[in-house]
Amino acid sequence: MCSWIYPPREPLAPNEALNFALGMRALGMSEEHVKSSLKLAQVKERGRPAAMRQVSIRALEIKQSDPLKSWMYIATKLCPCEKESHDVGCSEKLRQAVIDLKAFLKKHNTTVHGV
Ligand SMILES: [Zn+2]
Repeated sequence: MCSWIYPPREPLAPNEALNFALGMRALGMSEEHVKSSLKLAQVKERGRPAAMRQVSIRALEIKQSDPLKSWMYIATKLCPCEKESHDVGCSEKLRQAVIDLKAFLKKHNTTVHGV
């Protein structure tokens, strides 16, 4: 669980890559797509924090199981920044990361319901 919340900067460590893959699988993506997207994610994210992208999967899961949860609530739970209290910027970044994630999933023909 900790690797979801406090991942090191970069690159993805093997266990984080695994978590990422498991999250993708949980969202219904095929194993083949997970593998290719994992490769893509590691290339694309080189040199910048992948933390938001990783927590976006958890955030999407929370939104799916409970759509009434606010982004601020989710940011409080998941935001990887080191600020003492999370603000609107955190929730907005998280919301944007989930939008990116959903676009990414859609591109790979994985339909996400309920969000
Ligand atoms: Zn934050």
